[in-house]
Amino acid sequence: MRFAEEFRSRELVKSIADRIRQKCQKQWTLMEFCGTHTVSIFRHGLKSMLPDGVKLVSGPGCPVCVTSKTDIDKILALCDIPDAIVATYGDMMKVPGSKFTLAEKRAQGADVRVIYSSYDAIELARENRGRKVFFIGIGFETTAPSTAAAVRRAKEMGLQNFKVLSLHKLTPPVIGALLEGDCAVDGFICPGHVCSIIGAKPLEPIASGYGKPCVVAGFEPGDVMQAILMLVAQLEEGRSEVEIEYVRGVTYEGNSNALKIMEEVFDITSSEWRGIGVVENTGLVLRGEFADFDASPYVPQQIRSEPDPPGCKCGDILRGEMLPPDCPLFGRLCKPSSPIGPCMVSSEGSCATYYLYARSEKWMNL
Ligand code: SF4
Repeated sequence: MRFAEEFRSRELVKSIADRIRQKCQKQWTLMEFCGTHTVSIFRHGLKSMLPDGVKLVSGPGCPVCVTSKTDIDKILALCDIPDAIVATYGDMMKVPGSKFTLAEKRAQGADVRVIYSSYDAIELARENRGRKVFFIGIGFETTAPSTAAAVRRAKEMGLQNFKVLSLHKLTPPVIGALLEGDCAVDGFICPGHVCSIIGAKPLEPIASGYGKPCVVAGFEPGDVMQAILMLVAQLEEGRSEVEIEYVRGVTYEGNSNALKIMEEVFDITSSEWRGIGVVENTGLVLRGEFADFDASPYVPQQIRSEPDPPGCKCGDILRGEMLPPDCPLFGRLCKPSSPIGPCMVSSEGSCATYYLYARSEKWMNL
Protein backbone atom coordinates (compact mmCIF):
# COMPACT_ATOMS: atom_id res chain seq x y z
CA MET A 1 0.00 0.00 0.00
CA ARG A 2 2.08 2.86 -1.31
CA PHE A 3 1.90 6.16 0.62
CA ALA A 4 0.67 4.34 3.73
CA GLU A 5 3.21 1.62 4.58
CA GLU A 6 6.11 4.06 4.46
CA PHE A 7 4.45 6.12 7.16
CA ARG A 8 3.88 3.07 9.38
CA SER A 9 7.55 2.13 9.63
CA ARG A 10 8.49 1.43 13.24
CA GLU A 11 12.05 2.65 12.63
CA LEU A 12 10.76 5.89 11.12
CA VAL A 13 8.43 6.57 14.04
CA LYS A 14 11.14 5.78 16.60
CA SER A 15 13.65 8.03 14.89
CA ILE A 16 11.17 10.93 14.88
CA ALA A 17 10.42 10.27 18.56
CA ASP A 18 14.18 10.52 19.26
CA ARG A 19 14.29 13.88 17.51
CA ILE A 20 11.30 15.10 19.56
CA ARG A 21 13.15 14.11 22.75
CA GLN A 22 16.24 16.03 21.64
CA LYS A 23 14.23 19.08 20.67
CA CYS A 24 11.86 19.26 23.64
CA GLN A 25 13.24 21.34 26.51
CA LYS A 26 10.04 22.66 28.08
CA GLN A 27 6.52 21.43 28.79
CA TRP A 28 4.07 21.61 25.88
CA THR A 29 0.43 20.64 25.63
CA LEU A 30 -0.70 19.81 22.12
CA MET A 31 -4.26 19.14 21.02
CA GLU A 32 -5.09 16.68 18.29
CA PHE A 33 -8.31 18.27 17.07
CA CYS A 34 -9.53 15.23 15.21
CA GLY A 35 -10.85 11.90 16.48
CA THR A 36 -9.07 10.06 13.66
CA HIS A 37 -5.79 11.34 15.05
CA THR A 38 -6.78 10.26 18.55
CA VAL A 39 -7.40 6.73 17.29
CA SER A 40 -4.06 6.68 15.43
CA ILE A 41 -2.20 7.91 18.52
CA PHE A 42 -3.66 5.14 20.69
CA ARG A 43 -3.67 2.34 18.13
CA HIS A 44 0.04 2.84 17.51
CA GLY A 45 1.02 3.56 21.11
CA LEU A 46 2.49 6.95 20.23
CA LYS A 47 1.99 8.50 23.66
CA SER A 48 4.37 6.00 25.21
CA MET A 49 7.11 7.14 22.83
CA LEU A 50 6.89 10.83 23.69
CA PRO A 51 9.03 12.64 26.27
CA ASP A 52 7.39 13.82 29.50
CA GLY A 53 7.49 17.38 28.16
CA VAL A 54 4.86 16.64 25.50
CA LYS A 55 1.28 16.14 26.63
CA LEU A 56 -1.45 15.33 24.13
CA VAL A 57 -5.11 16.18 24.70
CA SER A 58 -8.01 15.33 22.42
CA GLY A 59 -10.21 17.99 20.89
CA PRO A 60 -13.76 18.24 19.57
CA GLY A 61 -12.99 16.72 16.17
CA CYS A 62 -15.58 13.96 16.17
CA PRO A 63 -18.73 15.13 14.35
CA VAL A 64 -20.96 12.66 16.17
CA CYS A 65 -19.64 13.72 19.58
CA VAL A 66 -20.16 17.44 19.01
CA THR A 67 -23.68 17.16 17.64
CA SER A 68 -25.83 18.74 20.32
CA LYS A 69 -28.58 16.87 22.06
CA THR A 70 -31.04 19.41 20.64
CA ASP A 71 -29.96 18.45 17.13
CA ILE A 72 -30.37 14.74 17.92
CA ASP A 73 -33.85 15.55 19.21
CA LYS A 74 -34.58 17.36 15.94
CA ILE A 75 -33.66 14.23 14.00
CA LEU A 76 -35.89 12.16 16.28
CA ALA A 77 -38.75 14.62 15.67
CA LEU A 78 -38.37 14.15 11.90
CA CYS A 79 -38.90 10.41 12.46
CA ASP A 80 -42.43 11.19 13.71
CA ILE A 81 -43.54 12.86 10.48
CA PRO A 82 -46.01 10.53 8.70
CA ASP A 83 -44.40 8.64 5.80
CA ALA A 84 -40.96 10.08 6.56
CA ILE A 85 -37.79 8.19 5.77
CA VAL A 86 -34.80 9.39 7.78
CA ALA A 87 -31.50 8.61 6.08
CA THR A 88 -28.35 8.82 8.18
CA TYR A 89 -24.81 7.55 8.48
CA GLY A 90 -24.53 4.58 10.82
CA ASP A 91 -22.54 6.22 13.57
CA MET A 92 -25.50 8.43 14.47
CA MET A 93 -27.73 5.48 15.33
CA LYS A 94 -26.62 5.01 18.94
CA VAL A 95 -26.15 8.64 19.98
CA PRO A 96 -28.54 9.38 22.84
CA GLY A 97 -31.12 12.12 22.41
CA SER A 98 -33.19 13.33 25.35
CA LYS A 99 -35.34 10.20 25.37
CA PHE A 100 -34.19 7.82 22.67
CA THR A 101 -31.48 6.96 20.21
CA LEU A 102 -32.25 6.65 16.50
CA ALA A 103 -31.79 2.88 16.85
CA GLU A 104 -34.48 2.82 19.54
CA LYS A 105 -36.73 5.00 17.42
CA ARG A 106 -36.35 2.56 14.55
CA ALA A 107 -37.18 -0.33 16.87
CA GLN A 108 -40.40 1.53 17.72
CA GLY A 109 -41.36 1.56 14.03
CA ALA A 110 -39.77 4.70 12.55
CA ASP A 111 -38.34 4.28 9.05
CA VAL A 112 -34.67 5.05 9.65
CA ARG A 113 -32.22 3.93 6.97
CA VAL A 114 -28.46 3.69 7.35
CA ILE A 115 -26.73 4.96 4.23
CA TYR A 116 -23.12 5.17 3.11
CA SER A 117 -23.19 8.29 0.96
CA SER A 118 -25.38 11.29 0.29
CA TYR A 119 -26.18 9.77 -3.11
CA ASP A 120 -27.79 6.76 -1.37
CA ALA A 121 -30.25 9.27 0.06
CA ILE A 122 -30.88 10.70 -3.42
CA GLU A 123 -31.62 7.17 -4.60
CA LEU A 124 -34.04 6.64 -1.70
CA ALA A 125 -35.86 9.84 -2.66
CA ARG A 126 -36.02 8.77 -6.30
CA GLU A 127 -37.47 5.37 -5.36
CA ASN A 128 -39.96 6.83 -2.86
CA ARG A 129 -41.32 9.94 -4.55
CA GLY A 130 -44.51 9.80 -2.50
CA ARG A 131 -42.57 10.07 0.75
CA LYS A 132 -40.23 12.66 2.22
CA VAL A 133 -36.63 11.53 2.60
CA PHE A 134 -34.80 13.47 5.31
CA PHE A 135 -31.05 13.20 4.86
CA ILE A 136 -29.04 14.06 7.98
CA GLY A 137 -26.08 16.11 6.75
CA ILE A 138 -23.43 15.66 9.38
CA GLY A 139 -19.68 16.10 9.51
CA PHE A 140 -17.07 18.77 9.04
CA GLU A 141 -15.81 20.28 5.80
CA THR A 142 -14.87 16.74 4.77
CA THR A 143 -18.46 15.63 4.13
CA ALA A 144 -20.12 18.97 3.44
CA PRO A 145 -19.14 19.01 -0.27
CA SER A 146 -20.86 15.65 -0.87
CA THR A 147 -24.01 16.94 0.81
CA ALA A 148 -23.83 20.05 -1.37
CA ALA A 149 -23.41 17.89 -4.47
CA ALA A 150 -26.46 15.81 -3.49
CA VAL A 151 -28.59 18.93 -3.00
CA ARG A 152 -27.57 20.24 -6.40
CA ARG A 153 -28.32 16.84 -7.95
CA ALA A 154 -31.75 16.71 -6.29
CA LYS A 155 -32.52 20.12 -7.77
CA GLU A 156 -31.42 18.98 -11.23
CA MET A 157 -33.63 15.88 -10.91
CA GLY A 158 -36.60 17.79 -9.49
CA LEU A 159 -36.61 15.57 -6.39
CA GLN A 160 -38.76 17.82 -4.21
CA ASN A 161 -39.13 15.03 -1.61
CA PHE A 162 -35.37 15.12 -0.82
CA LYS A 163 -34.74 17.25 2.27
CA VAL A 164 -31.48 17.92 4.10
CA LEU A 165 -31.12 18.67 7.78
CA SER A 166 -27.74 20.37 7.66
CA LEU A 167 -25.81 19.81 10.88
CA HIS A 168 -22.45 20.34 9.19
CA LYS A 169 -19.81 22.16 11.17
CA LEU A 170 -16.76 24.22 10.28
CA THR A 171 -13.53 23.62 12.15
CA PRO A 172 -11.15 26.63 12.17
CA PRO A 173 -13.54 29.06 13.92
CA VAL A 174 -14.27 26.57 16.69
CA ILE A 175 -10.56 26.32 17.50
CA GLY A 176 -10.70 30.07 18.04
CA ALA A 177 -13.72 29.60 20.30
CA LEU A 178 -11.82 27.02 22.37
CA LEU A 179 -8.94 29.44 22.79
CA GLU A 180 -11.32 32.15 23.99
CA GLY A 181 -12.22 29.79 26.86
CA ASP A 182 -10.02 27.89 29.31
CA CYS A 183 -8.24 25.76 26.74
CA ALA A 184 -4.60 25.65 27.86
CA VAL A 185 -3.15 24.30 24.62
CA ASP A 186 0.15 25.40 23.09
CA GLY A 187 -0.32 24.07 19.56
CA PHE A 188 -2.66 22.11 17.33
CA ILE A 189 -2.33 18.95 15.27
CA CYS A 190 -4.87 19.83 12.59
CA PRO A 191 -7.00 17.43 10.56
CA GLY A 192 -5.56 16.40 7.21
CA HIS A 193 -8.89 15.34 5.70
CA VAL A 194 -10.61 18.64 6.56
CA CYS A 195 -7.66 20.61 5.22
CA SER A 196 -7.63 18.56 2.00
CA ILE A 197 -10.86 20.49 1.35
CA ILE A 198 -10.29 23.90 2.93
CA GLY A 199 -6.49 24.03 2.66
CA ALA A 200 -4.20 25.23 5.44
CA LYS A 201 -4.90 28.92 4.87
CA PRO A 202 -8.01 29.18 7.15
CA LEU A 203 -5.77 28.19 10.10
CA GLU A 204 -3.72 31.40 9.82
CA PRO A 205 -5.84 33.31 12.39
CA ILE A 206 -5.06 30.60 14.96
CA ALA A 207 -1.32 30.87 14.39
CA SER A 208 -1.02 34.62 13.91
CA GLY A 209 -4.01 35.84 15.97
CA TYR A 210 -3.79 33.51 18.96
CA GLY A 211 -0.09 32.68 18.70
CA LYS A 212 -0.74 28.94 18.55
CA PRO A 213 1.18 26.99 15.93
CA CYS A 214 -0.81 24.65 13.69
CA VAL A 215 0.50 21.67 11.76
CA VAL A 216 -1.80 19.87 9.32
CA ALA A 217 -1.15 16.15 9.71
CA GLY A 218 -1.99 12.89 7.97
CA PHE A 219 -3.24 9.90 9.92
CA GLU A 220 -0.47 7.34 9.81
CA PRO A 221 1.79 7.08 12.88
CA GLY A 222 4.72 8.62 11.00
CA ASP A 223 2.52 11.56 10.02
CA VAL A 224 1.36 12.22 13.56
CA MET A 225 4.86 11.91 15.04
CA GLN A 226 6.28 14.25 12.40
CA ALA A 227 3.54 16.79 13.12
CA ILE A 228 4.40 16.64 16.83
CA LEU A 229 8.07 17.22 15.99
CA MET A 230 7.16 20.20 13.80
CA LEU A 231 5.02 21.69 16.58
CA VAL A 232 7.65 21.14 19.26
CA ALA A 233 10.27 22.73 16.98
CA GLN A 234 8.06 25.78 16.43
CA LEU A 235 7.33 26.15 20.13
CA GLU A 236 10.94 25.72 21.24
CA GLU A 237 12.04 28.25 18.62
CA GLY A 238 9.32 30.72 19.57
CA ARG A 239 7.53 30.49 16.22
CA SER A 240 3.81 30.30 15.58
CA GLU A 241 3.10 29.33 11.99
CA VAL A 242 0.82 27.18 9.89
CA GLU A 243 2.73 24.24 8.45
CA ILE A 244 1.64 21.25 6.41
CA GLU A 245 3.03 17.84 7.26
CA TYR A 246 0.44 16.09 5.06
CA VAL A 247 1.84 17.49 1.83
CA ARG A 248 0.68 14.46 -0.14
CA GLY A 249 -2.96 15.38 0.53
CA VAL A 250 -3.17 19.06 1.41
CA THR A 251 -2.33 22.33 -0.29
CA TYR A 252 -2.33 25.78 1.25
CA GLU A 253 -5.32 26.93 -0.82
CA GLY A 254 -7.43 23.75 -0.64
CA ASN A 255 -9.67 22.01 -3.17
CA SER A 256 -11.22 24.75 -5.30
CA ASN A 257 -13.97 22.52 -6.74
CA ALA A 258 -15.11 21.36 -3.30
CA LEU A 259 -15.00 24.89 -1.90
CA LYS A 260 -16.95 26.18 -4.88
CA ILE A 261 -19.84 23.74 -4.50
CA MET A 262 -20.00 24.38 -0.75
CA GLU A 263 -20.21 28.10 -1.42
CA GLU A 264 -22.85 27.56 -4.11
CA VAL A 265 -25.17 25.54 -1.87
CA PHE A 266 -24.50 26.73 1.69
CA ASP A 267 -24.49 29.92 3.68
CA ILE A 268 -22.42 30.13 6.85
CA THR A 269 -24.32 30.48 10.12
CA SER A 270 -23.84 29.81 13.82
CA SER A 271 -23.97 26.26 15.15
CA GLU A 272 -24.44 24.61 18.53
CA TRP A 273 -21.55 22.37 19.60
CA ARG A 274 -22.01 19.91 22.42
CA GLY A 275 -19.88 20.97 25.34
CA ILE A 276 -18.88 24.25 23.72
CA GLY A 277 -22.17 26.00 23.02
CA VAL A 278 -23.26 28.14 20.11
CA VAL A 279 -20.30 29.30 18.04
CA GLU A 280 -20.68 31.91 15.31
CA ASN A 281 -19.64 31.07 11.75
CA THR A 282 -19.30 27.33 12.38
CA GLY A 283 -22.51 26.03 10.78
CA LEU A 284 -23.83 25.61 7.26
CA VAL A 285 -27.42 26.20 6.11
CA LEU A 286 -28.88 25.81 2.63
CA ARG A 287 -28.93 29.01 0.60
CA GLY A 288 -32.25 30.53 -0.39
CA GLU A 289 -32.27 29.05 -3.89
CA PHE A 290 -32.13 25.56 -2.36
CA ALA A 291 -34.80 26.23 0.29
CA ASP A 292 -37.09 23.56 -1.22
CA PHE A 293 -34.57 20.96 -0.07
CA ASP A 294 -34.24 22.25 3.49
CA ALA A 295 -35.57 19.97 6.24
CA SER A 296 -35.53 22.73 8.88
CA PRO A 297 -39.15 23.86 8.30
CA TYR A 298 -40.30 20.33 9.19
CA VAL A 299 -38.65 20.41 12.62
CA PRO A 300 -41.03 21.44 15.42
CA GLN A 301 -40.25 24.93 16.75
CA GLN A 302 -40.22 23.97 20.39
CA ILE A 303 -37.74 21.20 21.10
CA ARG A 304 -37.06 20.91 24.81
CA SER A 305 -33.93 18.88 25.31
CA GLU A 306 -32.91 17.44 28.63
CA PRO A 307 -29.48 18.13 30.13
CA ASP A 308 -26.69 15.57 29.83
CA PRO A 309 -26.86 12.73 32.35
CA PRO A 310 -25.44 13.61 35.79
CA GLY A 311 -21.73 12.92 35.92
CA CYS A 312 -21.17 12.89 32.14
CA LYS A 313 -18.10 15.00 31.36
CA CYS A 314 -18.33 15.00 27.56
CA GLY A 315 -18.26 18.80 27.47
CA ASP A 316 -15.01 19.04 29.46
CA ILE A 317 -13.45 16.29 27.35
CA LEU A 318 -14.48 17.91 24.04
CA ARG A 319 -12.92 21.20 25.19
CA GLY A 320 -9.67 19.40 26.03
CA GLU A 321 -10.00 20.28 29.71
CA MET A 322 -10.32 16.71 30.97
CA LEU A 323 -9.27 13.21 29.92
CA PRO A 324 -11.86 10.43 29.66
CA PRO A 325 -10.61 8.38 32.64
CA ASP A 326 -11.33 11.44 34.82
CA CYS A 327 -15.05 11.03 34.17
CA PRO A 328 -16.58 9.20 37.14
CA LEU A 329 -18.72 7.10 34.79
CA PHE A 330 -15.88 6.01 32.48
CA GLY A 331 -15.63 2.24 32.24
CA ARG A 332 -18.06 1.78 35.10
CA LEU A 333 -21.52 2.86 34.01
CA CYS A 334 -20.40 4.13 30.59
CA LYS A 335 -18.92 1.67 28.09
CA PRO A 336 -19.19 1.26 24.31
CA SER A 337 -21.81 -1.45 24.87
CA SER A 338 -23.89 0.88 27.08
CA PRO A 339 -22.80 4.45 26.25
CA ILE A 340 -24.09 7.33 28.33
CA GLY A 341 -22.51 10.17 26.37
CA PRO A 342 -21.70 10.55 22.66
CA CYS A 343 -17.93 10.42 23.23
CA MET A 344 -18.39 6.73 24.08
CA VAL A 345 -20.60 6.06 21.04
CA SER A 346 -18.54 7.05 18.06
CA SER A 347 -15.59 4.88 17.07
CA GLU A 348 -13.63 8.14 16.95
CA GLY A 349 -14.92 9.49 20.26
CA SER A 350 -12.24 10.12 22.89
CA CYS A 351 -13.94 8.02 25.55
CA ALA A 352 -14.44 5.05 23.22
CA THR A 353 -10.81 5.28 22.09
CA TYR A 354 -9.48 5.40 25.65
CA TYR A 355 -11.76 2.52 26.60
CA LEU A 356 -10.64 0.39 23.69
CA TYR A 357 -6.90 1.01 23.90
CA ALA A 358 -6.00 2.22 27.34
CA ARG A 359 -8.57 1.52 30.00
CA SER A 360 -6.50 -0.82 32.10
CA GLU A 361 -3.08 0.66 31.66
CA LYS A 362 -1.06 3.55 32.91
CA TRP A 363 -3.18 5.96 30.88
CA MET A 364 -5.74 5.70 33.64
CA ASN A 365 -3.30 7.71 35.74
CA LEU A 366 -2.68 10.44 33.17
S1 SF4 B 1 -17.14 8.28 29.90
FE1 SF4 B 1 -19.25 8.37 29.13
S2 SF4 B 1 -20.34 9.67 30.55
FE2 SF4 B 1 -18.14 10.04 30.84
S3 SF4 B 1 -17.65 11.75 29.50
FE3 SF4 B 1 -17.27 9.89 28.35
S4 SF4 B 1 -19.16 9.52 27.25
FE4 SF4 B 1 -19.67 11.01 28.86
